[in-house]
Amino acid sequence: MDYQKVIDKIYSELLPRRGVGKVADYIPALAAADPMQYGISLSTLDGRSCNAGDYGKAFSIQSISKVFSFAMVLRILGDEIWDSVGREPSGNPFNSLVQLEYEQGIPRNPFINAGALVVTDRLISLYDRPKEALLDFIRSLCGNDDIYFDQHVARSEREHADRNMALAHFMKSFGNIKNDIDTLIDVYCSQCAIAMTCQDLAKSFLFLANRGTNPLNGDRVLSVSQAKRLGAVMLTCGFYDESGDFAFRTGLPGKSGVGGGIVAYIPGSLSIAVWSPGLNRHGNSVLAVETLERFTTDIGNSIF
Ligand code: GLU
Repeated sequence: MDYQKVIDKIYSELLPRRGVGKVADYIPALAAADPMQYGISLSTLDGRSCNAGDYGKAFSIQSISKVFSFAMVLRILGDEIWDSVGREPSGNPFNSLVQLEYEQGIPRNPFINAGALVVTDRLISLYDRPKEALLDFIRSLCGNDDIYFDQHVARSEREHADRNMALAHFMKSFGNIKNDIDTLIDVYCSQCAIAMTCQDLAKSFLFLANRGTNPLNGDRVLSVSQAKRLGAVMLTCGFYDESGDFAFRTGLPGKSGVGGGIVAYIPGSLSIAVWSPGLNRHGNSVLAVETLERFTTDIGNSIF
């Protein structure tokens, strides 16, 4: 399969649609993003890399970071983590408070904000220097030691973290947050502010395409079973309250972030990252979803 040809065709056909959607505006640092940016990067398990457009520009990965923090916690705590966080789609916006009340402070899944806060809380309990550990983990996944926290975005996140603080306090009242809230919000806002390129992101998801083992260095990151479970949660919960529609359109497990990035993968084959900042009303990049829908259609392959 000539993936470069497939990507070039999709890229040139969708280029006139750049700018569709609305850039995230809940923090000033993201509202300033240029909506005309559009990049694609694909990495295969047999070592190929195919790219188009702005694939080499670093952007704010936002909620895509929830996959990394969750993988770090899952590999250490194993099934114990499921006592504190569920694995059902929420059908609610990513920052919703309502379900937590009647579900006794146990978030529906690790990819809504409440669930990700619980996961980051466990990361803080497990590591003396959780922020550094997270960067080290991502750097080893993609083989790039330059992955960094965008401090401007992190500061902006912290200045507008009232709802995340409310979620954290609320869960603490149920005993599901163990650490100091300010520390938790600091680590959480930093993880959202990690900057990566499409190329870094595609590489960093190869371990999932490879059933838990990083093909770049042979490290076993997750067991085969854990990788399966993480993929299943991405498929069902990775796209806010649009997860069903994303699965329907693309047939891929993946994760999006409000910076406009989406990473998805086909087990046993490849991972692909797409970025364009314009979002639909659910918080997913309009162009990235369209790109991935065309991609699986054009190559005639997905997980189904
Ligand atoms: N930093 C965002 C928040 O917690 C995450 C946004 C996202 O879903 O990508 O509010």
